Amino acid sequence: MTGYAGPPRHGLDLVACSEKRYIIPMDSSKEQSAAQPNAVAATVLERIKAAVGPKGYTVDPAEIAPHCQSWRDNWHGWVPMVVKPANVDEVAAVVAICAESGTPIVPQGGNTGLTGGGQPHASGTEIIISTSRMNRVREIDILNNTMTVEAGCILAELQVAAADADRLFPLSLAAEGSCQIGGNLSTNAGGTQVLRYGNARNLVLGLEVVLPDGRIWDGLRGLRKDNTGYDLKQLFIGAEGTLGMITAAVLKLFPKPTEIQTALVAVPDPTAALALLSRASEMLGEQVSAFELIQRRAIDFVLQHVPDVTDPMAQVHPWYVLMEVFGQGEPDSLRDTVEAVLGDGLEAGEVLDAVLAANRAQGQALWKIRESIPEAQNHEGQSVKHDVSVPLSRIAEFLERADLALAAAYPGVRCVAFGHIGDGNMHYNPAQPLAADGADFAAEYGAINRIVHDLIAELNGSISAEHGLGRLRREEVLRYKSSVEMDLMRSVKKALDPDDIMNPGKVV
Ligand SMILES: Cc1cc2nc3c(=O)[nH]c(=O)nc-3n(C[C@H](O)[C@H](O)[C@H](O)COP(=O)(O)OP(=O)(O)OC[C@H]3O[C@@H](n4cnc5c(N)ncnc54)[C@H](O)[C@@H]3O)c2cc1C
Repeated sequence: MTGYAGPPRHGLDLVACSEKRYIIPMDSSKEQSAAQPNAVAATVLERIKAAVGPKGYTVDPAEIAPHCQSWRDNWHGWVPMVVKPANVDEVAAVVAICAESGTPIVPQGGNTGLTGGGQPHASGTEIIISTSRMNRVREIDILNNTMTVEAGCILAELQVAAADADRLFPLSLAAEGSCQIGGNLSTNAGGTQVLRYGNARNLVLGLEVVLPDGRIWDGLRGLRKDNTGYDLKQLFIGAEGTLGMITAAVLKLFPKPTEIQTALVAVPDPTAALALLSRASEMLGEQVSAFELIQRRAIDFVLQHVPDVTDPMAQVHPWYVLMEVFGQGEPDSLRDTVEAVLGDGLEAGEVLDAVLAANRAQGQALWKIRESIPEAQNHEGQSVKHDVSVPLSRIAEFLERADLALAAAYPGVRCVAFGHIGDGNMHYNPAQPLAADGADFAAEYGAINRIVHDLIAELNGSISAEHGLGRLRREEVLRYKSSVEMDLMRSVKKALDPDDIMNPGKVV
């Protein structure tokens, strides 16, 4: 062990990754035929057409098809029309027509959601309302540190808009080149900066929402304090489109970091990773903005399947942490402290080796490894994906016990763990044994969920830390939430959407 160094070591040849934003293509290869079901009355479709004009809808099967399938290609459905309103009034008009006619609505943003919440059912009875044309930044208020944006703004474009105003909008996730802020808020997205800035819920001061009866709720207030009753905006955030259509939001802005330090750190195990997090927090406080755990197997998958990625260290280690620190001082003024964290961690046995990026391009190349994991795992046959959280103090126990239980049940299973360990959130994705038949392993989906989710429940965790319930975990959650909690959720749904117009069959 020779410790870490300033510039990346071991002949590290980091490929500059200037673009960490994955633009997720809308795949129209599975175009549906014109014979797809259309169970919405022609009069309703005609009224919607009149409300939004020719640019505001499509009935072309080739254009509709990509809206009806999910990113992982595991959810498909069909609608006779995708509506693309230009503004909140058009959304309200369309929702009112749907409410009157009993036509269910599937709200859709960038369609990158992972739980089947944004895809219609196969019956052809629903329409999709896409926010893709509602993509204006309405206002940036520098003194108030807020920006008011429409739901269809692409997340990466909002990051740029904030940066152009010399501010930071910190929400960041691998789908940011495609996902939209309305979808981010509706899923209460997490991503990589939650440790410091909180998840989407914490980044919102106000909302504009079209309610299921077509009324507009204008809650676009940029207030940090407002105790005039229930905090209604929080109901719609994370509701996955089941309570109304978010059409605009007032988002919080933050000072732009003047310095970013990014390190990939090899650690012996998750317990050591958490000890390092504790050390980093003591020495750097809230400046630690991201802390991601990566199991070696995940890096092996990336090296095997993703082009232009090199192993950052000469030695192979069992676990890694990707740590990022945002500072507000002179460039590189935190570097010494970050090196001290790593040096002290080395002495304490928490750190085995480390690479500290010398510049932003190298930092982004380290992020590319982390963000390519889901794509790389897709090449390894069937896997059962979990998005779970437990208190930080139970993470090591969860990983150890889940690995043991799955190995006992499925000899040769290749468990892959990675994710936002700083938030107690792990993506835990057992992949099929190498010699196994993929279909046989996929058939174990329910049994594997049972092993993982029962353990999560025992550790007082959550079976969906950031992706939501959608359709994927709608039944599953019934096993883990109390009847009191489910009753409360159903009561809220009934109060706001008594006729079940908004995204039926999702969440509750
Ligand atoms: C490669 C990749 C990486 C990802 N990484 C992360 C991650 O790190 N963290 C994370 O939390 N998620 C992650 N996700 C999941 C996904 O990107 C997020 O859930 C994202 O917030 C969804 O935004 P979207 O615009 O694509 O929403 P959609 O997929 O279009 O919709 C998601 C849900 O919100 C509803 N909805 C959409 N827009 C509105 C609206 N305006 N009003 C009301 N309801 C609406 C939909 O009906 C659906 O239920 C990832 C996905 C991919 C493909």
